Amino acid sequence: LFIAFEGGDGAGKSTQSRLLAEALRSRGITVVQTREPGGTEIGEKLRSLVLDHGQGEIDARTEALMYAAARAAHVEQLIRPALARGEAVITDRYIDSSIAYQGIGRGLGIGEIRDLNVWATNALWPHFTVILDVDPAAGRARRAPGGEDRLESEPDSFHAQVRQAFLDTAATAPERHLVIDGLQDVDTIAALILARVDEVLSE
Ligand code: C5P
Repeated sequence: LFIAFEGGDGAGKSTQSRLLAEALRSRGITVVQTREPGGTEIGEKLRSLVLDHGQGEIDARTEALMYAAARAAHVEQLIRPALARGEAVITDRYIDSSIAYQGIGRGLGIGEIRDLNVWATNALWPHFTVILDVDPAAGRARRAPGGEDRLESEPDSFHAQVRQAFLDTAATAPERHLVIDGLQDVDTIAALILARVDEVLSE
């Protein structure tokens, strides 16, 4: 079982991935809970590199390749081995983030970023991706102050574009996505996600 959480900054991805991991563990399932960029030693180094630089210091193509490189290591070293052991993997961000931020946000193009990441992951797609959808202003209000987040300095129009990109990506592959209004109650959202997990497990 491989599930990805996506959405803008402050959408509630880390809370919901933690709740899902707890729910699965309470059923006796071994869960690897991870995040991107990161999840491996190399991925965390790339995370620091890409997030520590100010806006405009890394050109868009270099940035896209760094996220893709972190993802390649993540899949090869952590995700595929865990899935091969029969464990569940929950990742906070995956390919859809690159499509939204680099493909649309940075204007590199959806098709190019998708192809790059299909290559980087050797075409490993999650069983489904949860898109936690929130209005950028609401997301900004919920983000932790003083975080590492380089993109907080981006205007709401950037985040609005990214939000729309997540929704459009979900619409092109509805069978692989679960779009949820991220402003709903935390437990309501967790229950919706668990219901979809149960569908996948019973297939
Ligand atoms: O979700 P998290 O806060 O860990 O993401 C770190 C930062 O990296 C966020 O600002 C997010 O917008 C950005 N990011 C990005 N492109 C990706 C993945 C994350 O710009 N492909």
